[in-house]
Amino acid sequence: MSSQPLDFECPRCARPASQATYGPCADCRHQLRARFEGDGRQVEVARYEPKMNVVPNQVATKD
Ligand SMILES: [Zn+2]
Repeated sequence: MSSQPLDFECPRCARPASQATYGPCADCRHQLRARFEGDGRQVEVARYEPKMNVVPNQVATKD
């Protein structure tokens, strides 16, 4: 019974999907995986930017 696939709309592309679990369709999962692998480093770099901005600001406030 639980092995019956669910029929739902993909939350990402809104196209009908049929999978065992709710989530992005196979097509979207493919794109998401490529995105995670490709943008993974960019996200990490973006995290560092605010940190570096906080330090000069605190120093400037003390001045
Ligand atoms: Zn999709």
